[in-house]
Amino acid sequence: MIDISPYWVYAGNLNCSYMMWDHMKIVEFIAMEIYNKFPDRQDRRLCIGDNTPMSGACDGHPGSSHAGCYVMDTNYYTLGKNNTTQYRPGKKGDACYELTYIWDESNGWPGNDPNKLLKDVFDWERNYYFVKRLKDFFPKTNLITNSVIRNYIMDEVKKKYGQNAATEFFKSMGSDLNPVYKHSHHFHMSLGDEIIYP
Ligand SMILES: [Zn+2]
Repeated sequence: MIDISPYWVYAGNLNCSYMMWDHMKIVEFIAMEIYNKFPDRQDRRLCIGDNTPMSGACDGHPGSSHAGCYVMDTNYYTLGKNNTTQYRPGKKGDACYELTYIWDESNGWPGNDPNKLLKDVFDWERNYYFVKRLKDFFPKTNLITNSVIRNYIMDEVKKKYGQNAATEFFKSMGSDLNPVYKHSHHFHMSLGDEIIYP
């Protein structure tokens, strides 16, 4: 993938930067919607991490979890200076390269403690919209996040959009608390091989 879009940036391993054309166009479309829907945010780009290699599986991920050209990791959208929660775009010295912390990490791995999620930094609304739109286009999407993050987004969705929307969101994604997978710092999403075109 070549970074020529204002709507997203690729920050993953270059060997694993492949995604099927149709899939990528829709991801780009959703990133554009978010760019336009939330104009006040400091970093308006979706930050994509590892996708998959053209064939085989991407190193550094368990088994075949990053294979098939329709899998991607993305950083979380934040309310901070950028969306660099794990994967780093650019190079050292660039503003986008510096991490934005969405957890209080002063005492080691924080991703199983609800009190450690920095709610003034984690952008539940953009992350929710992103997931919701992915589900609209990719019915087989399998999304995985961190359990604390899932609960937090669900609570906020319930407050703003009601119980049905919250239940729908909750059903739409898996979660874990495993520090090895780092879903505390990025979304994992297998978009599946089916697309519903608008
Ligand atoms: Zn992943």
